Amino acid sequence: MSPMRILILVVLFFIAFRLLTAGRRKKTIEAKKASASGPKEQFADVLEEDPVCHKLVPRQQAVQLRRQGKSYYFCSQTCCDTFSREQGERT
Ligand SMILES: [Zn+2]
Repeated sequence: MSPMRILILVVLFFIAFRLLTAGRRKKTIEAKKASASGPKEQFADVLEEDPVCHKLVPRQQAVQLRRQGKSYYFCSQTCCDTFSREQGERT
């Protein structure tokens, strides 16, 4: 084999290697772009008053209880339990 042929093979191998790595890099960039554009919050939080401790709680974080067609929001499960116990005692 002549040295010229070896050089051509090396160059071809180098080009092929560059093409393969370039393709792989493009894919990872596309994956990063897809994960970065996540869903944005569509509405602002509404504050609800806890009927047990009278704290204001954001609706999305509150413990929700539906009773007789009305929705009640609580700061914690403990307040929700207290409320349902009190309601149960009254009726
Ligand atoms: Zn509470």
